[in-house]
Amino acid sequence: MAIDGSKIIHAVLEGSRIRESKGIIPLFGVYLSLFPTRYYNRLSFEFEQKLGSIQTDMKAASLLTEASQACGYATFHGIRNSWEWEVIVEPMIERREDQIMGFTAVAVAFGWGDLEVLELIPGKVLRMRANDSYEANGYLKEYGIAKSGKCYMLRGVFGGFMDLLYGEDYPDGCFTFIAEEPSCRAKGDTCCEFIVQRSSD
Ligand SMILES: [Zn+2]
Repeated sequence: MAIDGSKIIHAVLEGSRIRESKGIIPLFGVYLSLFPTRYYNRLSFEFEQKLGSIQTDMKAASLLTEASQACGYATFHGIRNSWEWEVIVEPMIERREDQIMGFTAVAVAFGWGDLEVLELIPGKVLRMRANDSYEANGYLKEYGIAKSGKCYMLRGVFGGFMDLLYGEDYPDGCFTFIAEEPSCRAKGDTCCEFIVQRSSD
């Protein structure tokens, strides 16, 4: 059975109606919250600008991508081990690579963009596309055309996807892969495209 993304998206949207008293959404084995993308973008991009204005070897793009990859790696590990995953997604999985489709459907339901798997070469390469990344949209709106890709959150998360599939067992596999974003709407490209490869390559 192929992965039915709409079934996963529907389950996440239904489940996200349940809130704890503080507004936290316990779902797919992890704790989620609603977060304004404009606020998130502002934190990221102002951090990048501030760090860029001082003498440092640290690059904000790398730091933000790494933070996202560590978070995405842990989050999707939790999701993959949840009872919701076991009941809803697991029956549709025929081969290990199908997990990427499951992860992608969950990420779409989280509101992270209109995401598409372009290519997956097992153990080696993942190519992803985002048609409406909120990071690219937000950057364009606030700062205009960028000189480089700005979707740090998605870059990190896609790296985490490959870490979970082909890295060492959790928690030792994080950063086995690294993602780049050769095309980004923030640069004026028609969509954002990501390529994930082994960090040792
Ligand atoms: Zn982008």
